[in-house]
This record gives sequence, C-alpha cells and structure tokens, in this order.
Amino acid sequence: MLQINNLRAKVEDKEILKGLSLQVKPGEVHAIMGPNGSGKSTLGYVLSGREGYEATEGEVTLEGKDLLELEADERAKSGLFLAFQYPVEIPGVSNMEFLKTSVDATRQFQGKEPLDAVTFMKLAREKCQAVNLDQNFLKRGVNEGFSGGEKKRNEIMQMMLLEPKLCILDETDSGLDIDALQVVADGVNACRDPERAFIIVTHYQRLLDYIVPDYVHVLSGGKIIKSGGKELALELEEKGYSWIDQL
Ligand code: ADP
Ligand code: MG
Ligand code: MG
Repeated sequence: MLQINNLRAKVEDKEILKGLSLQVKPGEVHAIMGPNGSGKSTLGYVLSGREGYEATEGEVTLEGKDLLELEADERAKSGLFLAFQYPVEIPGVSNMEFLKTSVDATRQFQGKEPLDAVTFMKLAREKCQAVNLDQNFLKRGVNEGFSGGEKKRNEIMQMMLLEPKLCILDETDSGLDIDALQVVADGVNACRDPERAFIIVTHYQRLLDYIVPDYVHVLSGGKIIKSGGKELALELEEKGYSWIDQL
C-alpha cells in the first residue's frame, strides 16, 4: 500500500529525513517510535504534503501512485489521513460544515455519489458517539476552544467519517488521560480493516497496549534504525532511547 524508498526531506534548508525506507501493506499497523526531534512529525508532514516540507530524494508510492507528485488535497482525497500532533483550530467554520465538505470532496474524487444531508448527519452523530463527543461539537468551530483530549477525539471522528486507506496518527496519545486514551484506541481499533493500514507515531509504549501493532520501528536521526514486533516497544520502554543511540 505504502512504499517509501530512501526518502530524504528538508525543512527550511535543514535535512531532517536522511534516507528513510518503510513498507506498509493493507491491514497492517506500524508503530513509529523515537526520541523528540527525530523527525516523526516531519515524516507525517512530508507524506501529507504540508507546505515547507520538501522531499529531496527517494520515492513514495501509495497504491502504486507517486505520492510526492500530488498536491496535499489530492493525497487526502486519494485516501491518506493525518491526525495531527497539534490539531489546528478553524474558528468560524463549523465542524459539521468542515466534515461534510471533506467527505463530499473525497467521495467525488473517488467517483462516489455524495451523501445526502440526512444520511450524513446520522453518520456524523454515530461517529461522535463512538468517540464519546457530545453532538454539540458538530456545531462548534473546528477544534475551537476544544480541550486537548477533545481535539484528539475529534481527529479520530474525522478519520472515521473519511474512511481513509492509510491513517497516520501523530502522537494522538499525547496529553490524553487514561479514559480518553481508551476512547481513542477503541476508535482506531473499530477502524481496523484488512483494506486499511495505520502508522501510529508515539513517544510512549502505553498506547500500544491498546492498539497492538504488527511492527514497531525506531526513528532516530531521520532514519529507521531498528524494526521489530510489538515487543520492541516494551524493550524501548524499559531501556530508554539512549539504548538505541548506542546501536
Ligand atoms: P519529532 O516529531 O520526532 O519530535 P519533528 O519532526 O517535529 O520531530 O522535528 C524534527 C526536527 O526538525 C527538529 O529538529 C525540528 O526542530 C525540526 N523542524 C521541524 N519542523 C520545522 C520547521 N517548520 N522549521 C524548522 N525546523 C523544523
Ligand atoms: Mg516531538
Ligand atoms: Mg512530533
């Protein structure tokens, strides 16, 4: 599904990703762990096409399509979803409006009929319930005045509605208490599907008790320096990231 070969990328003339390779197949859950500043968020931004994050070398394909050739919105509409480490507030645009526009645009791009307003509303309410957000959140400005946990749950709600092929979750667990963490994990687990893949970026092992990954990778200095199964996350937790730097 996703094939990254020797990806190098820079931000403001500083090279951050230094030859990163990763293969993700449909149905798989990959966790990416690593010390602060190792380039985890940069990877998510480069894949999603955020302005200012420039790939300088290497290839990235999503279902065989050259991802780096596409505009950010085309990448999203092709089925790539990024849940932000720091979700953005969009005051003045209601969550509902935002979601409906996103879902309509995505469906249109994929050659599907738009959902009628009633069907969409029903679906949106269902997803709110699934992430334990009151329906009033649909009427509020996108993330406007939401607490940290509410923003993260809102990201998962968006993900559930958009039904992406590849979901990248960037430290969705940071700042969550244990109950919110459980809600987020349940949401993600409900979306697991043989046709869908996840890249879960996290600093801590705790989330991976709830969302059990097939593979764990350690990103350090802009490269994946170690890969393993879910037990690698426990080993990291126990030995710390300094252990990795000595590898
Ligand atoms: P992580 O998510 O693993 O903590 P990041 O990808 O956020 O790491 O950051 C990797 C490195 O890139 C850091 O040194 C960070 O300061 C730098 N960086 C990221 N974004 C920018 C930016 N917009 N401008 C300048 N430096 C950046
Ligand atoms: Mg960080
Ligand atoms: Mg980060």
